[in-house]
Amino acid sequence: MYYPQIRLPVVLLAVHWLLLPIPAHAVGPHYTVTSDERLEQLEVRACFESAVPTRLKARLDDASGLLRDAQLHTSDEVLEIEPRGTILELPPVSTPACVHYRVDLESVSKRHWRSNNWRRQDAIIIDPGSWLWIAEGRGSDERWRLDFVLPADYDVSAPWSRIGRNGRMVSYEVRTRMPQREARIAIGRFRVESIELPGGRVRYALLSGTPEPDTDFIRQWVTTGARALATAYGRLPVPDLQLLVVPVGHGDEPVPWGEVQRGGGDAVHLFINQRLSEEAFMNDWVLVHELSHLLHPVIISDDRWLSEGIASYYQNVLRARVGLKSPESAWNKLHAGFERGIRGTPRGRSLAEVSETMMRDRSFMRVYWSGAAIALLADVELRRRSDGAQSLDTALEALHACCLPADRHWTGRELMQELDRLTGTRVFMELYNEHIGSDEFPDLAAVYEELGLERVSTTRLRLDPEASGASICASIMAVPDS
Ligand SMILES: [Zn+2]
Repeated sequence: MYYPQIRLPVVLLAVHWLLLPIPAHAVGPHYTVTSDERLEQLEVRACFESAVPTRLKARLDDASGLLRDAQLHTSDEVLEIEPRGTILELPPVSTPACVHYRVDLESVSKRHWRSNNWRRQDAIIIDPGSWLWIAEGRGSDERWRLDFVLPADYDVSAPWSRIGRNGRMVSYEVRTRMPQREARIAIGRFRVESIELPGGRVRYALLSGTPEPDTDFIRQWVTTGARALATAYGRLPVPDLQLLVVPVGHGDEPVPWGEVQRGGGDAVHLFINQRLSEEAFMNDWVLVHELSHLLHPVIISDDRWLSEGIASYYQNVLRARVGLKSPESAWNKLHAGFERGIRGTPRGRSLAEVSETMMRDRSFMRVYWSGAAIALLADVELRRRSDGAQSLDTALEALHACCLPADRHWTGRELMQELDRLTGTRVFMELYNEHIGSDEFPDLAAVYEELGLERVSTTRLRLDPEASGASICASIMAVPDS
């Protein structure tokens, strides 16, 4: 096992969130959400000082089933209002007004832990789309204040931008960023901590579990993963990340389920089996894979070869850069993935086709590792042409500067064209045109030869230090000079 070496400064704030002064909120609605200790309900008050909307909307169909006692309060009257589906019509008013409603959390039972709504006795996870009724048609540049008033010792993890904590009140600035995308908030007996790294902060929360997880170790594990992400180009790719870790106590792997969500902000959610060993966690790939997805904007699911390719390539490269793997072992992992991809590539169907139908025909290996092979080919080509001045790291760094955090979906072609523009090359579109319509796994023979990657078996390589591209081979797994 390889223990990580400290390469980037990490500041871990104390357990209690800093008591930041909360700035006066800008013009816009002001939401206050109060939760009780048993998490039976949320009381929501949405106040509009001016421009009271004519209708509020919830994103998910189950919101109306959880809504109770919705009322419009003005200075001189209280009007009952009823939802129609996911719409709450408001009578026209000319004065400032507040909408009051309750959300029945008791009916959010413990569903499958991969679902967006889930509860245990001291915490609840719920998609804001199930309870947050907001003015329809809000632009993604609009922001407004949302305060949670919580029982003592409770906290809330959310994808929005956290302003601060003041006693029992935790304040967020909400954006309707990518409003159709999923999100999760967690409320309960835990603490949100801030892991500060160059370029941003990770707002990390670990829920309780049975058995209780080793909080010091899990914090060290996620910090190492976040530090690995920051070695792509010296900083985090997003300024503010919600990292929610839920111990579920079962599963064959340390992280039986991990995913990235983008609704309202950038988020990584990990469901872990806390019964497994520290060594198993430090050797696992899922944390760094999910974090690596933050290096790219949301790519449409039909082009998942590109998003999964970037994450599958970097899950190995970045772990080598922080010492979670030796460079040789990272190359072995990439090689084993490419071999699985080759075995999973039947003739007759293009990469574009299998990417579209991947979930149905479970062609994960073909899609993930074809994309990772294209990432390797692009990385080596850029490094060779520029004598090391350019790389996939520098291309993604330029993408960060121009286009992240992104508020929209990209196609694979669009992103490859943008990477060409940013690097002043044709490297990405040449690879795109060569492979997107091909029914063969990308041919890596020439790159293996150049880098000195000699195939020993389906899972092992021998590295030839005398190869013409040995320095490229070494530099891929090393922290880039900044
Ligand atoms: Zn992925």
